[in-house]
Amino acid sequence: METEENIFTEVAVVEDQGVISTRSIKRTSRGIVKRVGVPFCDHCGRRLESRFSICADCGKKLDETCTVQYASRILSPDCAVNRLGLRILEIKVLVGYAIGLNLQEIEQYFHIRWVDAVSVSKHLENLNLLRAKFPAFIRGYEISELGASASSVCIRLLQVLDQLPVGIFVEFEPLPKDMPQFGGERFG
Ligand SMILES: [Zn+2]
Repeated sequence: METEENIFTEVAVVEDQGVISTRSIKRTSRGIVKRVGVPFCDHCGRRLESRFSICADCGKKLDETCTVQYASRILSPDCAVNRLGLRILEIKVLVGYAIGLNLQEIEQYFHIRWVDAVSVSKHLENLNLLRAKFPAFIRGYEISELGASASSVCIRLLQVLDQLPVGIFVEFEPLPKDMPQFGGERFG
């Protein structure tokens, strides 16, 4: 004789953030339910394949297109931004200079308001990430050595966040072993 107890149901559910995959079997009034957690990238939501990473800071699951390497750690984009201590706007301006754009071009390509591009440039100069080309009000800024060392992680971040302007293609250089941290007051 068949009873409801014999009904076996398998339910696939989106796995929680930071959890790779769990399985559980429950006996309910409607029968036996097997719950299978399916892992998705906690950043972009794509289903994870066999190769994926875990953010060293927050533990988010990440597919390969959503990882940022920083100081030999694999991080989520959010954690990489936190570690850098820079805002997205600041990262955009820094990348602009790193790939050889001037202030006008940064405004144009990154769709940044002129006043913001100017004030962010000054801020980045204070952090020694940019250097003023004397006289700064005529010639603007250029990337410093420190800024150049931060640029590859910043470019990768914009790429992951889909914020790199269309038409700008950047070759990746190997990441330096020890990435400096910036704007320490915002981190730790
Ligand atoms: Zn992803």
